[in-house]
Amino acid sequence: MIHFNVPPVYGTEEEKIHEVIELRKICGDGEFTKRCNHWIETDTGCAKALLTTSCTHALEMAALLCQIQPGDEVILPSYTFVSTANAFVLRGAKLVFVDIRPDTMNIDENLIEAAITDKTKAIAVVHYAGVSCEMDKIISLAKKYHLFVVEDAAQGVMSSYKGKALGAIGDFGCFSFHETKNYSMGEGGALLIHDGKYADIAEIIREKGTNRSQFWRGKVDKYRWVDIGSSYLPSELNAAYLFAQLENAEKIFNDRMESWNHYYSGLKDLAAEEKISLPVIPENCTHNAHMFYIKVKDIEERSRLISYLKDKDIETVFHYIPLHTAPAGLKFGRFHGDDRYTTKESERLLRLPMYYRLKGEDIEAVVGGIKDFFAEN
Ligand SMILES: *Cc1c(COP(=O)(O)O)cnc(C)c1O
Repeated sequence: MIHFNVPPVYGTEEEKIHEVIELRKICGDGEFTKRCNHWIETDTGCAKALLTTSCTHALEMAALLCQIQPGDEVILPSYTFVSTANAFVLRGAKLVFVDIRPDTMNIDENLIEAAITDKTKAIAVVHYAGVSCEMDKIISLAKKYHLFVVEDAAQGVMSSYKGKALGAIGDFGCFSFHETKNYSMGEGGALLIHDGKYADIAEIIREKGTNRSQFWRGKVDKYRWVDIGSSYLPSELNAAYLFAQLENAEKIFNDRMESWNHYYSGLKDLAAEEKISLPVIPENCTHNAHMFYIKVKDIEERSRLISYLKDKDIETVFHYIPLHTAPAGLKFGRFHGDDRYTTKESERLLRLPMYYRLKGEDIEAVVGGIKDFFAEN
């Protein structure tokens, strides 16, 4: 069986976790959390990074930091994971979905301005498959209309746009370290803060609304409840697992990139024959080989291909049912303009097995299976 995902294990996770146990400090914000935060700050250039219990929680923190109020509108793509939307709905926001670009599956930057109203408070972008949205355009719109930009960079760790790290371009960026992502701690994430003036309030939100972080640093002599917040900090055990991978991030990155390039060259011919489409990486973007997907003709062909590959013991998956067509999406949002690509392109997309240490022979088997399918059909 060639699985779709195998969670990353670099090999040094166990010794790091053992260190935590020896230190007798297993709650949050110990040595390993600090090292992870520092790694993210150094790698991305953000003013402040805070490890969180998930990307979902980092997005919730971002919505709190944007001070989203009931009735505010947030612009986002419909083609995304539910967490991008939930974070804002939890604060009472109304969602305004905008269509995607068919080449990158990212929000179409040219459709955003028409969706802005006097209630718009933020634009939440998603860097699908670790390939950047057109950030220059989005940042300039945000400046013009005084909006926050939140980057859902769950899939974008170690990707860049015009030399800038994803997650560190907008006001707030959110990483995921879920087991399906490039670097993992089981469940986890990080909030990236562009402007250091938000660092103190972010720490308060993450520490149950208290100023405990300042207390630990000796900045205040007692800690107390100062604002709303929740518990968004992960255990040191998880941070240690992650740090083992972050300090070897380059090797994990290179291994994934090799797999990605292997798929790309193996499937080039089918794309040239117009049987499938391959991912598009715009010129000013570098990606992180988070995902390898192909697009086929339509949903019916995709279903047949999935079962064809399953018979060959190859697991492939698709995602997202567009949010604006889902029960909660209908309740909490509206689609601005036409759904030209969101539904159509999401129905064509199929994700191929992709993980750290995926074997070359397995990639050959997947490519061979897809070629056989099209030869027989
Ligand atoms: C994985 C993912 C999330 C959620 O990440 P968690 O860490 O599991 O909360 C959010 N948005 C996108 C685009 C994702 O891919």
